[in-house]
Amino acid sequence: MAKERTYIMLKPDCVKRGLIGKVIARIEEKGYTISNMKMMNLDEKILREHYAHLVDRPFFPEIVSYMTSGPVVGMIVEGENAVKGMRIIMGATKFEEATAGTIRGDFAMKTTENIIHGSDSPENGEIEIKRFFGENA
Ligand code: UDP
Ligand code: MG
Repeated sequence: MAKERTYIMLKPDCVKRGLIGKVIARIEEKGYTISNMKMMNLDEKILREHYAHLVDRPFFPEIVSYMTSGPVVGMIVEGENAVKGMRIIMGATKFEEATAGTIRGDFAMKTTENIIHGSDSPENGEIEIKRFFGENA
Protein backbone atom coordinates (compact mmCIF):
# COMPACT_ATOMS: atom_id res chain seq x y z
CA MET A 1 0.00 0.00 0.00
CA ALA A 2 1.13 3.49 -0.74
CA LYS A 3 0.04 7.06 -0.27
CA GLU A 4 -2.07 7.80 -3.30
CA ARG A 5 -4.17 10.52 -4.84
CA THR A 6 -7.61 9.94 -6.32
CA TYR A 7 -10.02 12.18 -8.15
CA ILE A 8 -13.37 12.37 -6.39
CA MET A 9 -16.37 14.20 -7.78
CA LEU A 10 -19.66 14.90 -6.03
CA LYS A 11 -22.25 14.63 -8.79
CA PRO A 12 -25.18 16.99 -9.45
CA ASP A 13 -27.69 14.94 -7.42
CA CYS A 14 -25.38 15.14 -4.39
CA VAL A 15 -25.19 18.94 -4.68
CA LYS A 16 -28.92 19.41 -5.37
CA ARG A 17 -29.98 17.19 -2.48
CA GLY A 18 -27.78 19.02 0.00
CA LEU A 19 -25.57 16.02 0.69
CA ILE A 20 -22.15 17.63 0.11
CA GLY A 21 -21.46 17.91 3.84
CA LYS A 22 -22.51 14.35 4.67
CA VAL A 23 -20.38 12.85 1.90
CA ILE A 24 -17.35 14.99 2.73
CA ALA A 25 -17.72 13.99 6.40
CA ARG A 26 -17.42 10.32 5.43
CA ILE A 27 -14.27 10.99 3.41
CA GLU A 28 -12.70 12.93 6.29
CA GLU A 29 -13.85 10.47 8.97
CA LYS A 30 -12.14 7.68 7.05
CA GLY A 31 -8.94 9.66 7.47
CA TYR A 32 -8.30 10.94 3.97
CA THR A 33 -7.12 14.46 3.24
CA ILE A 34 -8.90 16.71 0.76
CA SER A 35 -6.01 18.66 -0.74
CA ASN A 36 -7.97 20.63 -3.36
CA MET A 37 -11.64 21.21 -4.07
CA LYS A 38 -13.75 23.26 -6.49
CA MET A 39 -17.31 23.61 -7.73
CA MET A 40 -17.73 23.63 -11.51
CA ASN A 41 -20.15 23.05 -14.37
CA LEU A 42 -19.20 20.32 -16.84
CA ASP A 43 -19.83 20.25 -20.59
CA GLU A 44 -20.18 17.38 -23.05
CA LYS A 45 -16.58 17.74 -24.27
CA ILE A 46 -15.00 17.00 -20.89
CA LEU A 47 -17.55 14.24 -20.20
CA ARG A 48 -16.59 12.52 -23.47
CA GLU A 49 -13.01 12.42 -22.18
CA HIS A 50 -13.85 11.50 -18.62
CA TYR A 51 -16.34 8.78 -19.62
CA ALA A 52 -14.53 7.70 -22.82
CA HIS A 53 -15.13 4.05 -21.88
CA LEU A 54 -18.90 4.68 -22.03
CA VAL A 55 -19.41 6.96 -25.07
CA ASP A 56 -20.73 4.12 -27.24
CA ARG A 57 -23.17 2.80 -24.65
CA PRO A 58 -26.88 3.51 -25.17
CA PHE A 59 -27.14 5.30 -21.82
CA PHE A 60 -24.34 7.79 -22.57
CA PRO A 61 -26.76 10.64 -23.53
CA GLU A 62 -28.46 10.13 -20.17
CA ILE A 63 -25.11 10.47 -18.39
CA VAL A 64 -24.37 13.72 -20.26
CA SER A 65 -27.79 15.15 -19.49
CA TYR A 66 -27.46 14.22 -15.80
CA MET A 67 -23.87 15.37 -15.36
CA THR A 68 -24.63 18.75 -17.00
CA SER A 69 -27.84 19.27 -14.99
CA GLY A 70 -26.10 21.27 -12.28
CA PRO A 71 -22.74 21.95 -10.66
CA VAL A 72 -20.40 19.23 -9.40
CA VAL A 73 -17.71 19.41 -6.73
CA GLY A 74 -14.31 18.07 -7.83
CA MET A 75 -11.74 17.07 -5.21
CA ILE A 76 -8.26 15.67 -4.90
CA VAL A 77 -8.34 13.13 -2.08
CA GLU A 78 -5.12 11.75 -0.64
CA GLY A 79 -4.20 8.92 1.71
CA GLU A 80 -2.95 5.36 2.05
CA ASN A 81 -4.53 3.21 -0.65
CA ALA A 82 -6.91 6.11 -1.41
CA VAL A 83 -8.05 4.86 -4.83
CA LYS A 84 -9.30 1.47 -3.68
CA GLY A 85 -10.29 2.77 -0.24
CA MET A 86 -12.54 5.43 -1.73
CA ARG A 87 -14.13 2.88 -4.08
CA ILE A 88 -14.94 0.78 -0.99
CA ILE A 89 -16.62 3.60 0.91
CA MET A 90 -18.40 4.76 -2.30
CA GLY A 91 -20.02 1.38 -2.95
CA ALA A 92 -20.81 -0.50 -6.15
CA THR A 93 -21.71 1.17 -9.45
CA LYS A 94 -24.99 -0.74 -9.87
CA PHE A 95 -27.43 0.66 -7.34
CA GLU A 96 -28.84 -2.75 -6.50
CA GLU A 97 -25.34 -3.95 -5.52
CA ALA A 98 -24.34 -0.93 -3.42
CA THR A 99 -24.53 -2.18 0.14
CA ALA A 100 -25.79 -0.31 3.19
CA GLY A 101 -23.05 1.66 4.88
CA THR A 102 -21.55 2.83 1.60
CA ILE A 103 -22.18 6.30 0.18
CA ARG A 104 -24.07 4.99 -2.86
CA GLY A 105 -25.82 2.29 -0.82
CA ASP A 106 -27.08 4.82 1.70
CA PHE A 107 -27.86 7.79 -0.56
CA ALA A 108 -28.66 6.55 -4.10
CA MET A 109 -31.50 4.59 -5.67
CA LYS A 110 -30.36 4.78 -9.32
CA THR A 111 -27.25 3.65 -11.19
CA THR A 112 -26.94 6.87 -13.18
CA GLU A 113 -27.67 9.31 -10.35
CA ASN A 114 -25.26 7.77 -7.91
CA ILE A 115 -23.89 10.72 -5.91
CA ILE A 116 -20.15 10.30 -6.36
CA HIS A 117 -17.32 9.52 -8.79
CA GLY A 118 -13.99 8.00 -7.77
CA SER A 119 -11.02 7.03 -9.95
CA ASP A 120 -10.65 3.31 -10.66
CA SER A 121 -6.82 3.08 -10.60
CA PRO A 122 -3.88 5.22 -9.41
CA GLU A 123 -2.93 5.88 -13.05
CA ASN A 124 -6.42 7.07 -13.93
CA GLY A 125 -6.47 9.09 -10.71
CA GLU A 126 -3.49 11.13 -11.88
CA ILE A 127 -4.99 11.55 -15.38
CA GLU A 128 -8.32 12.69 -13.94
CA ILE A 129 -6.67 15.09 -11.44
CA LYS A 130 -4.86 16.74 -14.35
CA ARG A 131 -8.04 16.78 -16.44
CA PHE A 132 -9.99 18.70 -13.81
CA PHE A 133 -7.29 20.60 -11.89
CA GLY A 134 -4.69 21.22 -14.60
CA GLU A 135 -1.30 19.84 -15.61
CA ASN A 136 0.47 21.20 -12.51
CA ALA A 137 -1.95 19.73 -9.95
N1 UDP B 1 -23.58 4.48 -15.48
C1 UDP B 1 -24.91 4.34 -15.85
N2 UDP B 1 -25.36 3.11 -16.24
C2 UDP B 1 -24.54 2.01 -16.28
C3 UDP B 1 -23.18 2.16 -15.92
C4 UDP B 1 -22.74 3.42 -15.53
O1 UDP B 1 -25.66 5.31 -15.82
O2 UDP B 1 -25.00 0.92 -16.64
C5 UDP B 1 -23.10 5.79 -15.03
C6 UDP B 1 -23.00 5.90 -13.51
O3 UDP B 1 -23.31 7.23 -13.13
C7 UDP B 1 -21.54 5.58 -13.26
C8 UDP B 1 -20.88 6.25 -14.47
O4 UDP B 1 -21.79 6.02 -15.54
O5 UDP B 1 -21.09 6.09 -12.02
C9 UDP B 1 -19.50 5.72 -14.81
O6 UDP B 1 -19.57 4.32 -14.98
P1 UDP B 1 -18.39 3.40 -14.44
O7 UDP B 1 -18.63 2.04 -15.01
O8 UDP B 1 -17.08 4.05 -14.67
O9 UDP B 1 -18.73 3.31 -12.87
P2 UDP B 1 -18.05 4.00 -11.60
O10 UDP B 1 -16.56 4.00 -11.84
O11 UDP B 1 -18.63 5.39 -11.48
O12 UDP B 1 -18.45 3.13 -10.44
MG1 MG C 1 -15.51 4.60 -13.45
